[in-house]
Amino acid sequence: MKSNRVIQIRLQVSTTLWQQMTDARLESARLWNKMVKLHLRFRKHNRKWPTQAQFEKHFARKFRLHSQTIQALIGKFFANIDSTCTNRANGDKRARYPYKEKTYFNPVWKGQHIKQDNNYIILPMGIDPHSRKRNLAICVRLPEQIPQGKIVQAELAFGKLLLTIQNEIEVEKPKVEKIAASDLGSIHLAVVTDSTNSLALVGRGLRSINQGKAKALAQISQLQSRCEKYSRRWKKLQATKRKILRKTQNQTHNLLHKAANEIVNYCKEKEVSKLVVGDITEINRNKKKKSSRRLNQEMGLLSLGVFVGYLKYKLAAIGTELESYSESYTTKTCPACGHKHKPKGRQYHCPKCGFIGVRDEVGAINLLNKFLNKGEIKPQSLIPKGNVKYLRPVRLKDFAKRSSPTDIGLPSIHVLCADG
Ligand SMILES: [Zn+2]
Repeated sequence: MKSNRVIQIRLQVSTTLWQQMTDARLESARLWNKMVKLHLRFRKHNRKWPTQAQFEKHFARKFRLHSQTIQALIGKFFANIDSTCTNRANGDKRARYPYKEKTYFNPVWKGQHIKQDNNYIILPMGIDPHSRKRNLAICVRLPEQIPQGKIVQAELAFGKLLLTIQNEIEVEKPKVEKIAASDLGSIHLAVVTDSTNSLALVGRGLRSINQGKAKALAQISQLQSRCEKYSRRWKKLQATKRKILRKTQNQTHNLLHKAANEIVNYCKEKEVSKLVVGDITEINRNKKKKSSRRLNQEMGLLSLGVFVGYLKYKLAAIGTELESYSESYTTKTCPACGHKHKPKGRQYHCPKCGFIGVRDEVGAINLLNKFLNKGEIKPQSLIPKGNVKYLRPVRLKDFAKRSSPTDIGLPSIHVLCADG
């Protein structure tokens, strides 16, 4: 299996080289903006959307960029369009196609077009469409130690070079087929079970991040309502808002990474060959119905998608497959008699046969049951044993402390507003 790793190299370069890099980033933005406009025009007039090949033909040799860079950017644009299409098809009506006009855009070089000469990396720039002269390649000195592996992509960001380094890694697949299931939710981020032992990851950390965020943002909005829009103070508050959003996003992703690692450890320890998770696109589609209320806004669907993404690649590295499966009725069905009812509270209590179990474990076990029996939850075949280990991906205390508004620079705002 191939594993990709992105490293960031901070660049300290001469003024000339800086100028050259800025030019490349401006030129990439010019290409990007043209693509955005052109695609928008096709959508507006209800015309058949151009294909990637048509775009490549249209934009070839029209920019001061290497032909491969142009292709890479077109590829990026189309990947963007595709993912928006999928998100919209899955019910996310707020998903937008690329629309923003960019001032700068990161040019990308791929594979063989990145040349290496001793400590230098050479990024070719192609032929100038007007003067027909070959542009000078961007030549950057690399630090002494970069990780071993093949450089497959280089991206030029503001004062930074992002290198994607690829390595072949050997994956040892679990020998026997063993399937486990995971129920995703908000009270518990995930409950994994192999029908004997279950692991529940407590979702409170995630909720407290989101609550802290909502509170801080509300405070700022209130302060903003008192000052004139676009005034200096308003803009400062706006900057703080962005800072909070960025910070909470980092915290969320950090937590999701840790939670995914816990699940990977569980699968490794139990030698699980396949992990079945509830189909999250399905939840998205039923968003308007009450059935998905357990996924309240505190646990955004977005985070779930990111979480499943992390799980997928992390599990692939240990040879475990991830499969999505419809989770309808898994929380409602009694694993002992098959009676369906909506459980109240955190316990599952069947009114028909008297079965009592941990609700989240019931959900995960039923999902496993349903997957193994091809879409049918067979009563009596898998009974939850109540063997649940609870884990917090991140210590809650740290989060409560870190996500408090005072830490994100709110005190200065109070001062800010006191003088006017
Ligand atoms: Zn029952």
